[in-house]
Amino acid sequence: MHIDTIIPADLDWQAQALCAQTGADFFFPEPGSSVREAKRICGMCEMRPACLEYALQNDERFGVWGGLSEKERLELRRTTH
Ligand code: SF4
Repeated sequence: MHIDTIIPADLDWQAQALCAQTGADFFFPEPGSSVREAKRICGMCEMRPACLEYALQNDERFGVWGGLSEKERLELRRTTH
């Protein structure tokens, strides 16, 4: 069996995620600490649209996804639904 047959297609983007190379620490900061560094990395990440879409669809509550903090995603969800 090829390894890629067991990775769901909609998770392919994670293999190219910039944060996978930098480590998760920036993306799940302690409450109240800065998300600026995570957002800076997201800004250079080609997978950003797929990442944000995934986070919204899966209702990811914690951390920075697709360049948005959990609070910003909540606001986005409120204004688009
Ligand atoms: S947009 Fe940000 S959180 Fe999403 S995959 Fe890229 S670097 Fe990671």
